[in-house]
Amino acid sequence: MDNRSKKFIFIPFCLIAQAYQAQGIVKYEWKSSIRPFIDLLLDYNINLIQMPCAEAEYNNNLIREPKGIAKYNTIEFNEHCEFLANKVAEQIKDLVESNYEVVAILGIEQSPSCCVNYIYTNKGMEKRMGLFMQKLYENIKELDIPIIGINRKHINKSLKELEKVLDN
Ligand code: SF4
Repeated sequence: MDNRSKKFIFIPFCLIAQAYQAQGIVKYEWKSSIRPFIDLLLDYNINLIQMPCAEAEYNNNLIREPKGIAKYNTIEFNEHCEFLANKVAEQIKDLVESNYEVVAILGIEQSPSCCVNYIYTNKGMEKRMGLFMQKLYENIKELDIPIIGINRKHINKSLKELEKVLDN
């Protein structure tokens, strides 16, 4: 008997690989910032798919300084994000066509590439999606998949939001 879970979630690369984040911004321990998400997803028997890290792939180097969205918002970086987002969107569409369920896509708030709702810039908080996430959303919006922004400073709020989606 084939007993596989047919549920999938797409997660940012750095959700389970903190070392992919820019230098100096990993403020929370693995145990407190990663494990609760993984435990929850495993409890719900969800297949995890890591989306590419747009920034690390673009820089071709894991050691990079943090940069704001204004600096990333170039033609080249947008084209790079579009290429990656198209590939992820294709994978999502393939799963849906195979009658698998994509329960959610996770982003990381305040990331120039992967935020879902907001980012802080030198002009204050800006409500918007990140450069990669926006392109992914444009590509799959007709599928109506929930997109949840993880706020690493407020893990419990993010966990509750995720749990609510998983319970649906
Ligand atoms: S670009 Fe996305 S995956 Fe890469 S470190 Fe930033 S938030 Fe994480």
